[in-house]
Amino acid sequence: MLVLTSLGSKALNLDIGIYQGFDVIEINFKVLQGRYVLEADGRIFNAFNKDIVLNITPLRDSVLVQINHRNVGLFKEVALYGRSFVNVFELENKKAGIPLRSYEDDLKIRVTKSKLLIINSIDIERYVAGVVQAESGGSTSNPQFFQVQSVSCRTYALVNVQKHAVDGFHLCDEVHCQYYLGKATLENVIKATLSTSGEVVVDTNDQMINAVFHSNCGGQTVNAQEVWSTSKSYLISQPDSFCHNASKARWEVTLDSAVFVEKLEQYFHYPIHDSLSLDSALHFHQPYRLQYFGAKVPLKLVRKEFGLKSTYFETDIKNGKVRISGKGFGHGIGLCQQGAIEMANRGYTYKSILRYYYPGTHLNLYTSLKYPFIPN
Ligand SMILES: [Zn+2]
Ligand SMILES: [Zn+2]
Repeated sequence: MLVLTSLGSKALNLDIGIYQGFDVIEINFKVLQGRYVLEADGRIFNAFNKDIVLNITPLRDSVLVQINHRNVGLFKEVALYGRSFVNVFELENKKAGIPLRSYEDDLKIRVTKSKLLIINSIDIERYVAGVVQAESGGSTSNPQFFQVQSVSCRTYALVNVQKHAVDGFHLCDEVHCQYYLGKATLENVIKATLSTSGEVVVDTNDQMINAVFHSNCGGQTVNAQEVWSTSKSYLISQPDSFCHNASKARWEVTLDSAVFVEKLEQYFHYPIHDSLSLDSALHFHQPYRLQYFGAKVPLKLVRKEFGLKSTYFETDIKNGKVRISGKGFGHGIGLCQQGAIEMANRGYTYKSILRYYYPGTHLNLYTSLKYPFIPN
């Protein structure tokens, strides 16, 4: 059995806010593997194993814990700590209609705004494997790509560990941070995480980088400064010849031209009565990635308002319809997942793929960094 654990003498756990996209008003907890102890408001209760289901609901600003409809108690904060070598539990979220999910390590629950705040406190390596599976488990089975994704997800997690400090956890389980649906089950994913254990991407000063990624860059990545107003030497625009034939390389949207023009004016105060400006909007071309659309509208705003897959698109008009033809999917900054998969399929190693998409960087273990940014 493969068991993922953090490097070094001390385990590095991350607190992940789970079910963040839902209002959770009931959860059922069941042990799948190992032995769990319930600790609530400083009191330690009996250990639980496989046969017991804990029903957990909010009651005013407290957490009500029941077993077989009998009250265990009403608490401010509830924690379920795994006490075995391997600890896995299952959560059932019936009222929100979410399929059963299994998680590893510990669970902490309290009530905020009459809803359950659910935190999975988990070893970083097990979390990374879960993220790699949720983010890209279905897209390939190439182990080199899973290694690429393990290193980038680990680096991203450590660099962004304060993103939810005000919420009382480190990272959420939505794409806002990194998509995470619980325990990794794919052996290729678990092996890839294990084989890169502790590795992070660092710049020339040995500082961990903001290892952002996206689905498909459309053939040219984007300079971070154009989207986020912060420049990074490793997040620069560069051509990518590896993602051209991938599934998300091209897309097309057709809109009624009157609707398109009306929206341009409504969203961006676009000068639609100026014939030159209107013409540049209806016949917009990007031989290489540009920053502005037509009469100086930032492309990132056009993407947002029209709900487009990327900013790398062109327009033309025919029979009263505007055709928007685009390349790529996502913000286009940093690592292009479909390009990285193609590189892996052509035999590039995960280290060379990471160097390609994050130029000027190299790998190091977070445990040997001079200035690691590690959570408490
Ligand atoms: Zn988040
Ligand atoms: Zn690409």
